[in-house]
Amino acid sequence: MSEESILIVEDEKDIQELVRYNLSKEGYRVTCADSGEAGLKSVQSQHPDLVILDLMLPGVDGLEVCRRMKTDLATAHIPIIMLTAKGDESDIVVGLEMGADDYVTKPFSLKVFLTRVRAVLRRSKSEPPGESEEEILRFSELVIHPGRHEVFVDEKPVALTFTEFFILKYLATRPGWVFTRLQIVQAIRGDGYSTSERSVDFQIVGLRKKLEGAARYIETVRGVGYRFKE
Ligand code: CA
Repeated sequence: MSEESILIVEDEKDIQELVRYNLSKEGYRVTCADSGEAGLKSVQSQHPDLVILDLMLPGVDGLEVCRRMKTDLATAHIPIIMLTAKGDESDIVVGLEMGADDYVTKPFSLKVFLTRVRAVLRRSKSEPPGESEEEILRFSELVIHPGRHEVFVDEKPVALTFTEFFILKYLATRPGWVFTRLQIVQAIRGDGYSTSERSVDFQIVGLRKKLEGAARYIETVRGVGYRFKE
């Protein structure tokens, strides 16, 4: 049984209860808050291992809760899974850019939800990935040598441009994480290259073409961005 603590911030009682019940059954210590204000108070006093955050809350909404948590050094490290209504892509994008770790759209499958919870908790424990520039990334037929800027598919070298290589490495360093186009752009700019959000899509097209069969690792998350799928 796990001893990790999870805070649910959700005003809809039936969803709150459903999530609480299922997480408790998995062995997590669960607390609930009905509003953004109560959620922030609990975050500050309890420092949970994970926050399940509904975006549609009365008063201080979920995005504002996320923003305040991520701008407060004491709580910035606490992972957040957002609960959103289907079709709220712009909120999802804003949330991810503010530092939320993942999202689940309602209505959601409990199996998918619990898998995401486990994945986010596992990731937050294995953090930080650090500057493991020399660490080779292996995914069966796909091998990435970050330090040497080399990629192999089925042991054959693949010639990528600097930007294509950067995007592949960036996504592959955190398998399962969803990155928005803006996050990818900002990461690339931070590395000294210039690009735009639109050009990220073109880079991905080129990257997939060159990776051939290994292109399946790069998943488009509709309306949001991209993720590396192991
Ligand atoms: Ca709600």
